[in-house]
Amino acid sequence: MNQTEQQTIRLTSEIAVEPIQQMGGDHMIVAAARVSTSGPEALEYADEARRDEGAGLINYLLKHRHGTPFEHAAMTFFCHAPLFVWREWHRHRVGFSYNEESGRYKQLEPVFWVPRRERLMVVPPKHKPARPVYLPLEDDAAYEALIERSRHVYQTCYDAYLADIEAGFALEVARRSLPLAIYSSCWVTCNPRSLMHFLSLRTHDTEAAFVSYPQAEIEEAARLLERIFAAGWPLAYQAFVKNGRIAP
Ligand SMILES: Cc1cc2nc3c(=O)[nH]c(=O)nc-3n(C[C@H](O)[C@H](O)[C@H](O)COP(=O)(O)OP(=O)(O)OC[C@H]3O[C@@H](n4cnc5c(N)ncnc54)[C@H](O)[C@@H]3O)c2cc1C
Repeated sequence: MNQTEQQTIRLTSEIAVEPIQQMGGDHMIVAAARVSTSGPEALEYADEARRDEGAGLINYLLKHRHGTPFEHAAMTFFCHAPLFVWREWHRHRVGFSYNEESGRYKQLEPVFWVPRRERLMVVPPKHKPARPVYLPLEDDAAYEALIERSRHVYQTCYDAYLADIEAGFALEVARRSLPLAIYSSCWVTCNPRSLMHFLSLRTHDTEAAFVSYPQAEIEEAARLLERIFAAGWPLAYQAFVKNGRIAP
């Protein structure tokens, strides 16, 4: 059998975020801010052992939206998510660097997203598009039908993709048949300031000063990033939450 024929597709709901590297911590934010009033002596604050001395300053910076000290740290992630998540994620232009697998240079894997059984997905009678709140799906048969329709359409699309490749068409032409549900992987680097901006828009929190209504799948990625942020920059994270989840 030809290599490009009849590859069975894989359905998944998982959004993966793996930390790759981390640079700096709360102490670097403090040291960067301290140069303003201490000049060269600010170097003394670039010491992790002195981190907790900076709690009040970090809270002050966040509260008064002095954002630039939060740019002196960085984190890199490997993320695997469907194209519709990347389409939303890539809108975050400032303080984010991306490198994504190429649909022009490599054959995309037959991995496609389907909603989890428990995902809220039914449109309520009084639906507000700008503030969407969905209902659980009660009907198991309806869910099974949705999965079967997905399987059928994804397999059909992927078969067409492979047929084009087999016929000698370029990958960049063959990929036109692939749906937004196909997965793509990306290397993402950001800093605490840009991450806080992302979190403020891509998480739903009724306690936030501004309540956003993101799609559940990008929120799933955002919540994974939030955990990494909270572990690596606990003072900045606490101040972010305390000040209404608004990026400085
Ligand atoms: C719930 C939700 C619904 C959305 N719905 C839609 C939609 O229907 N259609 C749609 O197209 N998009 C939609 N978006 C995407 C949205 O418009 C933004 O593109 C996305 O949230 C990134 O935000 P940002 O521009 O603030 O981020 P970044 O691009 O990272 O920018 C960060 C900040 O830098 C500053 N900045 C960046 N670029 C400029 C500039 N050119 N000029 C001046 N200041 C700048 C701004 O202060 C900005 O907040 C939606 C986003 C969310 C969260």
